[in-house]
Parts: sequence; structure tokens; C-alpha cells
Amino acid sequence: MARTLILNAGQLLTMAGPDAARRGREMSSVGLVRGGAVLVDDGQILAAGLHDIVLKHPTAGAAKILDAGGRVVLPGFVDSHAHPVFAAPRLTDFEARLKGATYQEIAAAGGGILSTVNGVRGAKQEKLASNLAHWAQRFIECGTTTLEAKSGYGLDLETELKMLRAVAAASAQTPLQFVPTLLGAHAVPPELKDRREDYLKRVCEEMIPAVARENLARFADVFCEQGFFSLEEAARVRESAARAGLGFKIHAEQLSRSGSVGMAVKGLAVSADHLDHVEAADIQALAGGQTVSCLVPGSNYFLNKAYPPARKLIDGGAAVALATDFNPGTCPCWDMRMILSIACTQMRMTPAEALVAATINGAWALGLGKSHGSLEPGKAADLVCYEAEDYREIPYYFGSTAVAWTMKRGAIAHSASGLKL
Ligand SMILES: [Zn+2]
Repeated sequence: MARTLILNAGQLLTMAGPDAARRGREMSSVGLVRGGAVLVDDGQILAAGLHDIVLKHPTAGAAKILDAGGRVVLPGFVDSHAHPVFAAPRLTDFEARLKGATYQEIAAAGGGILSTVNGVRGAKQEKLASNLAHWAQRFIECGTTTLEAKSGYGLDLETELKMLRAVAAASAQTPLQFVPTLLGAHAVPPELKDRREDYLKRVCEEMIPAVARENLARFADVFCEQGFFSLEEAARVRESAARAGLGFKIHAEQLSRSGSVGMAVKGLAVSADHLDHVEAADIQALAGGQTVSCLVPGSNYFLNKAYPPARKLIDGGAAVALATDFNPGTCPCWDMRMILSIACTQMRMTPAEALVAATINGAWALGLGKSHGSLEPGKAADLVCYEAEDYREIPYYFGSTAVAWTMKRGAIAHSASGLKL
């Protein structure tokens, strides 16, 4: 792959800093360099920083030049919470909800998560993969270079495996990097409605080991919520994941408080996600542990619900990540810019905090903090160049994409102007 020297970044946000998720006040530091350059080779960053210093690198002379034209250059977004494998959008549910239908009424009419489950069960793996590759291009156009991909719309061994195999197949069709997560414990499937213990056993004793054997996922996730999986059941999913060598993520305190944050932090979950109903003790636990607090305010926006307390989490010393939660039911949004805008206007995060949350902290929320999320030597050459002179424009001008180009592992994955290296 070509050695490339990116020159003339009006503002280069390196996100350089400690070798850990950024927490509390650290989240204000974007590693801003005015007049920045980045040297990349073989998909990795060799040097990033002030022009004059990067140009002194011994291999800079032989590199192809990519002029950033004074624009803002930053790490590609690492979107650490998404459910992007599905067959069809849920437009009927959307319209019904706008007309006042409740969650229960939508479910009774055949909508809700079970309609997505039926769609995924009925879809061929190739179709799920081509759908995912299609969405992947939209993510790349918006500057995202790494995306989590959860299963969880199969709710049986065969279909959960099909979803994760579709993620692996889609990887060959797009430059977007996927981080696959098994979410078998998303809901109890309708055919086992009265046999939840049987289903949980299948998740822990069949699905998790099978997925680990085939190396189809890096994490196991659980929806810990009233009517879904209890705190004790979520802990069993975590133990099973640990036995199989998978990391652990959790949908925590989303619709009500269960105490799952405490379990997640003690159990070294890589992230606890949603967190709409966290209390002071939970924030303290998150501030004192390694678990990243992953917020997905796009779903609050789409469902018109109160937002999670991002300000309290950051001021309390937690490490906050931002993700889209892309899925057909509660957040059909692939544009991280929209999420950044919501985070700033609705949750009072600063532009710097929001960008840290969507890059380096997103990487830590996927266990990729050592290799992704900042522009430092040895890390993946994943970058986005924004049509902006000041990084604060990114969450400011909402509703348009404005990505000049996206680079994945040193290659141009998208360019608004048809740029090629
Ligand atoms: Zn989710």
C-alpha cells in the first residue's frame, strides 16, 4: 500500500494521550495541532503532528502527497454500539408510534423487535451480508471507519450464527471494519416465551461456545432490563462469555435501574451502554473502574425520551463513548455527526468531549484502544477529513455530511471529490 503524506491539515486532532480511555477532564483534550501532517505507510501511522516535525521523518520524502487543504483531519469515528444486521426498516412501527401507539400495541400488531427477528430468520445469509455492506458504505461516507455489529435478531443458535457469518462475509465487501458481538440474550424468543430458563441455558451453553469456536464474535452482550434479562441472568451471560474467551458488554440501566452497572464494572465489562437511569453510586463505580460508559443519544432522540446524564458522568470522572446504536427500531442513523450534535445540544457535552467520545473512547469501548481511535505512531491509519476549518463546526452544522474523504488503513475509502491515491 502506498506511503502517503497528508499535509496542510488546518486543524489536526490527534487524540494523543494516555494509554487508556479518557475520563473526566481528560475528555476535553483533542490533541489539537494547527498546521498538521500525518505520514502513513502499510495501513499504519508512522508520524502525526506538526508539519515540520513529520516532514523530518526519514521516509517522508518518498511519500505521495495528500493535501488536506486547510481542513480538519481527525481519527475515523469508532462506532461502538450498533445492530446493523437486519432485513428491513420498521416504517410501519415508526408511523404507528407517531400516531400514539404504545410499545405493547405495536408489538401486538406484529411490529417491534419480533418483526425484525422474523425478517432476519427468513433472510438468506447472503442477503444480510449485502444489506450490511450497503449500510457500511453510508457509515464510511460519514467518516466512520470501525463499527460494532451485534447479532440478536435471530434468538436461536442457527440464526445468531447466520447473522455473525453475514458480518464476516460483509467484511470482504467493504473497507469498513466490523467488531462482531453476540447478542443472543437480546430477548426471549416467542417460541420459548414461557421457558426463559431454557433459552438462557441455550445462550450460555450452546450459543456462546459455538460462536467462540467459530471465532465469530469478540464480545457477548446482554439486554439487562425488566421483562428481558435480570441482573443474575446477565451475570451468567458474563461468566459464560469469560469461560469462552469472549469479552463482555451490557445494555445497562436503559429503561429502569437494575444495578447492572456495578456488576459490569466488577466483571470488567469493556462497556456499559445506554445508562439512561444511572444513579450517583453507578457513576462513582464507572469513574473508579475500567468499563467505558457508552451513550447512544440518537435512540433517545428518535424515541423522544429523556437523555442519559452525560454531564454528570463526565464531571464524575467516567470515560464516556458515543455511538449511533444504528438499528431499525430505535435509531436508524448512521451519521456520527448527528450523534455529536445531539450529544452537544441535548446532553451539554462540549465539541471536544463529543469528538473524544466518538473516536478514542469508542475504540476503548471495543477493546481497540491500543490500535485505533487516535493518530499516533503504530496505530491504524484510519482518518477522516471534514469540510471544516474548526473542529467545532462538526457538531455545529448538523444535518449534512460534509466529509471530504475517509481513509481506512491507509487507503481512501470514500471521497466526495473522487480523490484517489
Ligand atoms: Zn443496543
